[in-house]
Amino acid sequence: LMGFVGFANLPNQVHRKSVRKGFQFTAMVVGESGLGKSTLINTLFNTTLYPPKVPIPPSAERPSTVAIESISADIEENGVRLRLTVVDTPGFGDFVNNDECWKPIVENIEARFDSYLEQENRVNRQKIVDNRVHACLYFIQPTGHSLKPIDIEFMRQLHTRVNLIPIIAKADTLTDEEVAEFKARVLSDIAHHKIQIFEAPTYENEDEEAVAEAKEIASKIPFAVVGSDRIVKTPDGREVRGRAYPWGVVEVDNEDHCDFVKLRQMLVRTYMEELREFTNDVLYENWRTEKLISMGV
Ligand code: GDP
Ligand code: MG
Repeated sequence: LMGFVGFANLPNQVHRKSVRKGFQFTAMVVGESGLGKSTLINTLFNTTLYPPKVPIPPSAERPSTVAIESISADIEENGVRLRLTVVDTPGFGDFVNNDECWKPIVENIEARFDSYLEQENRVNRQKIVDNRVHACLYFIQPTGHSLKPIDIEFMRQLHTRVNLIPIIAKADTLTDEEVAEFKARVLSDIAHHKIQIFEAPTYENEDEEAVAEAKEIASKIPFAVVGSDRIVKTPDGREVRGRAYPWGVVEVDNEDHCDFVKLRQMLVRTYMEELREFTNDVLYENWRTEKLISMGV
């Protein structure tokens, strides 16, 4: 696939370490229903992970997600395997009362910490399975206005437990100028409400190219994404993953059209190790300390 940025290209040292330990990476998608979360998961894996039992006609809608479910796939590149898991969550906002709709999601994240802690406490700690959520993609409706109270509440409930990565959903419904303005607005709302999002570090001692790549990725947050699992034909005859409109085609894998490529690059290459480290060293450690204190240990 054109533009695929693989984890097999990780810097050597990180690469060797990870190959030895085996890659396990878990991301979660969260946000209001209908924002394209399930579609983006398919786009990420580049396959249809929800194989329809009966063929759906092209116009049929994807069924909406009703329970928290996780989907895993082994991705292999140059002999290196990554077990990528994405946790899909039902959208919220469909109910009159959305009080505490964040609760089942926070509970799911904490249950994964619990399972890790339980394995750490075993006598035999050789085969710990790490199912902790390393990144949470939080989908924001492309309103062009400020964040909604429900988004602020949700992110505040999540940010101490998971690396939050804000995403502007369905970016194809905004113009380039609107995307730029909305990104600035979202970032200032996030800062104003003291929401901690994942900060992409840049290391000055790395080679110029790596520093430039890291800065480029950091500058795209919140990523404006377009998801699609359909192949469409561009006016100049290319077949691409995208969404077709009377005025043209928005291409998922074209960096001039949206930030999907940068988002995937962040997750499976540039920041995979940092996301895992921050989850283990800070988020999990803090949760563990709180838990032990609450148990009176
Ligand atoms: P979820 O409820 O967040 O999981 O949303 P779905 O993935 O089920 O998608 C809801 C609807 O939005 C479907 O009709 C999708 O085809 C459509 N959709 C998904 N991603 C995009 C996108 O990037 N742009 C646009 N315009 N529509 C999208
Ligand atoms: Mg869904």
